[in-house]
Amino acid sequence: TAPAAEAQPRPILQLVGVRKTFGRFAAVESIDLDVREGEFLTIVGPSGSGKTTLLRMLAGMDTPSEGYITLRGELINDMPANRRPTCLVFQSLALFPHKSVGENITFPLKVKGVSAAARKARALELMKVVRLPPDYFDKNVMKCSGGERQRVALARAFAYDPQVLFFDEPLSALDYKLKKALEKELKDLHRETGKTFIYITHSLEEAMVMSDRIGVMRAGRLVQVGTPEEIYGAPVDRFVSEFVGEVNTIKVKRDGEEWRGVDVDGRFTLRPPADGAALGEAFVVVRPEYMRFLKEGDTADNRLTGTVYNEYSLGSRIQYQIRVGEKVMLVELSRARALPPGSDPVVTIGWDAADAFTLAG
Ligand code: ATP
Repeated sequence: TAPAAEAQPRPILQLVGVRKTFGRFAAVESIDLDVREGEFLTIVGPSGSGKTTLLRMLAGMDTPSEGYITLRGELINDMPANRRPTCLVFQSLALFPHKSVGENITFPLKVKGVSAAARKARALELMKVVRLPPDYFDKNVMKCSGGERQRVALARAFAYDPQVLFFDEPLSALDYKLKKALEKELKDLHRETGKTFIYITHSLEEAMVMSDRIGVMRAGRLVQVGTPEEIYGAPVDRFVSEFVGEVNTIKVKRDGEEWRGVDVDGRFTLRPPADGAALGEAFVVVRPEYMRFLKEGDTADNRLTGTVYNEYSLGSRIQYQIRVGEKVMLVELSRARALPPGSDPVVTIGWDAADAFTLAG
């Protein structure tokens, strides 16, 4: 609706029909995107989907073959990286290995001609922001741990005082625990600094934890942009639904007023598709955590009977694989609600129409 659209602040970055070709191959295909001031936007997609190519154009390391990129309304297609008020944080960090933490962080200020005393003062402020102790100022950066170096790189990025920060898989080389900790810190940092963050990753989990909005790329196209909840709960197609998590997908066909399973026996109640399309064939998609085991007398809009043939521990959760005819359905429960040992492997599983979504067949 128009009033809500008008309430949106002007985008800090705007992409219109952005395309990048290498010879005949289009690595990025007609992207339209408004990046909001101060948002944390993550671009996810499988390997080769064009994330890096898109980021390189935004950061000024590459020029679009077609289309426009504007920053606060100014066309920046051909503006070189070093003239843009943006900064890129890499996976490889690109720190100066023989220099101290302080020298690394203050490099951008030195280039600008800021005095040594002012540089140090600013570095100490930034070190506080990224939670590095002040006595690290003189420490050789190679003597820092992976996570500490990550913070040094971030502090240096902030020293440029950029309007937009780009992150190219900055956490992918780190171990799981550190990565989880830094995800939370990056999110806090984003909130505290109010800067616009554009982050690329192939890890959906990372995207879900940190982002205000997620853009999903596939084969050079941006197929959906939305909040983590929208991407997870209302994916636009099967590709997005499967990329963002595990799903149970059942093919159904309209039969008068009813929907019948094509690959499993049964009649199903569907939530109408989000776009209201009248479908002859459709896919019912249910996330495993919205499936439940039904006991005698339990009600559910939809149900199937099958045989448990595998269970996996996911730590605090358990996932069951249930064979229903030729299909395998997944049910995920918290450990507290697990099937008791020695239960009958023949089970009835069910879900409510409101907990599933419908995609065009
Ligand atoms: P990954 O997650 O593996 O980094 P990505 O989504 O970042 O992948 P890109 O690196 O943007 O993908 O690559 C998109 C496509 O464009 C790939 O098929 C890649 O081979 C191709 N490509 C990228 N850069 C060039 C180039 N300079 N010349 C030719 N093809 C390129």
